[in-house]
Amino acid sequence: MATEPARPSLAVWKFASCDGCQLTLLDCGDALLTLAARLHIAAFPEASSMIEPGPYDVSLVEGSITTEEDAARIRDIRARSTLLVAIGACATAGGIQALRDLADVDEFRAQVYPHPEYVRSLATATPISAHVPVDLELHGCPIDRGQLVEVLGALLAGRKPDLPVHSVCAQ
Ligand code: SF4
Repeated sequence: MATEPARPSLAVWKFASCDGCQLTLLDCGDALLTLAARLHIAAFPEASSMIEPGPYDVSLVEGSITTEEDAARIRDIRARSTLLVAIGACATAGGIQALRDLADVDEFRAQVYPHPEYVRSLATATPISAHVPVDLELHGCPIDRGQLVEVLGALLAGRKPDLPVHSVCAQ
């Protein structure tokens, strides 16, 4: 009896962000169902507590890096991912969190938290590409649903995605 070819594995990760780009993925409707039948979703912590250890064929990464723990986590995800796609303004440019790069982060912390001494963070919020090599960036806040479906469809078909020129693709 012929065995089915393995489906490419997909992982979806969140860093400092509002979840809006991940919601774009969940909001892809029929297109997502069609893709999901051809992909193996190995990790999607926002949607399921089942997280496989990888390696992953593709990791989609939302959010910017704002803590030492996140910096270590993205390096680990990179090491376990064949392709890493940064999705959205937070992941590709730091997002709204990066406004603190223009000010004193200790001052912000003191204004927001009653006990700022318990809150640890980096002085800046930086894009994923400041920490690890990124294969593709999807811009927007949130990302464009059609572009996301195009990227996943292209990866499944083994072709380069057809995206606007401002998207950065190392393929
Ligand atoms: Fe939310 Fe915009 Fe960041 Fe996406 S890019 S996670 S929509 S703030």
